[in-house]
Amino acid sequence: MKNNAVEVWEKCLKIVKDNIHFQSYKTWFAPIKPLKLEENVLTIQVPSQFFYEWLEEHYIDLLKKTITKELGPDGRLEYSIIMDSSFNNANPFSIKVPTSNIKAINNPPVQMPIDINRGFSKEIPNPFIIPGLKKIKVNSQLVETYSFDNFIEGDCNRLARSAGFAVAENPGKTSFNPLLIYSDVGLGKTHLAHAIGIHTKNNYPEKIVLYVSTEQFIVQFVDSVRNNNQNDFVHFYQMIDVLIIDDVQFLSGKEKTQDVFFHIFNHLHQNSKQLILTSDKPPVKLKGMEPRLLSRFKWGLAADLQPPDLETRIAILQKRLYNDGIIISEEVIEYIAYNVNTNVRELEGALISILAQSSLNKKAITIDLAKKMIDKFVKSTSREISIDYIQKVVCDYFSMSIDAINSKTRKREIVQARQLAMYFAKKHTKSSLATIGLHCGNKDHATVLHACRTINNLVETDKQFRIYVEEIDKKIKM
Ligand code: ADP
Ligand code: MG
Repeated sequence: MKNNAVEVWEKCLKIVKDNIHFQSYKTWFAPIKPLKLEENVLTIQVPSQFFYEWLEEHYIDLLKKTITKELGPDGRLEYSIIMDSSFNNANPFSIKVPTSNIKAINNPPVQMPIDINRGFSKEIPNPFIIPGLKKIKVNSQLVETYSFDNFIEGDCNRLARSAGFAVAENPGKTSFNPLLIYSDVGLGKTHLAHAIGIHTKNNYPEKIVLYVSTEQFIVQFVDSVRNNNQNDFVHFYQMIDVLIIDDVQFLSGKEKTQDVFFHIFNHLHQNSKQLILTSDKPPVKLKGMEPRLLSRFKWGLAADLQPPDLETRIAILQKRLYNDGIIISEEVIEYIAYNVNTNVRELEGALISILAQSSLNKKAITIDLAKKMIDKFVKSTSREISIDYIQKVVCDYFSMSIDAINSKTRKREIVQARQLAMYFAKKHTKSSLATIGLHCGNKDHATVLHACRTINNLVETDKQFRIYVEEIDKKIKM
């Protein structure tokens, strides 16, 4: 067997020698060792990954011709790459490289010489594949339910959502490159990032899309340094068409990872590949980042996600319930939406705990149950009082509709309710006067300031009015 391999390889070498410079022959072919020949597959051992890539890039045609000549049209070549001998796992790994056998051209997934399963969950197959000649299969790591369909649109996310959609329609071709999505936790960055990936994949099935968390990226990089195969790591990332990196703030202070990411970024960007990044802060506020990397984050578009308004919160809850095939009353949905206003994750958490409680105790989902659960829930997460909520309490107190407060009307009692809402918003939220004005009938900051003064005056001079204010205040804090 072995002899056979040696014989065949020697014949191949003769042909190679006749076709290339002697120096190239000495450099690239002399070090190769024939290992075995099995059913028309000749396995040769090459000294390194780099060596293999060089052969692939420069001599693949010659090798194909040679192998066809010696082994016939079904002849194939396989490489066995020797790992650095200082490296424990010294098993050479093989890559099947198609030669003249056209049918074999779809590259099989190949095991990488690095332990890149680190940072990936067990169920997710290793997404690293050696850049081959033709098709490559990469596990995108996209979560199907994080689709655009399931991402409710609202004022809070309109810009980021539509930019994301545009990117997915034309990856790498819009000026949103990179697209950086930033927000506080639980407001939908990860969801939106996946949605862009999924939509791109649907539009362009041939494009390689990859979602990775920054933590994964860092673990893989550190491993590649340890195993002395950073080149493989970089190559892998450089062949991605749409690269989504979640939570880039975790790169902070990681100089080496930033450095390698910088090079990957440049390569992808120069080749019109799309980058999508998410972060918990806008680029200007990211600390511990190399300036040259930061400046690139600012090249494209930075779009933020804001906490959803009441209407959007209701729509999110309704969508969740619809997807799960659960029906609960409008009243309960609204109650939850009013009271949980910090972020979407908590909103969903509240809904889930109410559903769980009801099914555990076989109780109907009533407003009372919702109240009980929300009380617990909200206490444990220190609820923030929102402008929406304040309006609701004020309007309930005076038995008027919220629409009235937000209308243009100058009816005395409505003006007063509006002023009260502004006053309490100033007292209980961190919102600016301008924001409060915007949410209370689209007024400017001066109007809000005036409202606060008016209410303060009335509290001091009008006893009955003071009682109103104290009662409403209690309800708001309840
Ligand atoms: P982040 O990455 O910003 O911390 P996530 O993307 O993990 O937030 O979102 C938290 C949860 O809220 C997820 O379950 C996500 O599906 C949901 N979510 C966030 N925004 C929306 C939205 N606009 N529509 C529907 N679900 C949303
Ligand atoms: Mg996230």
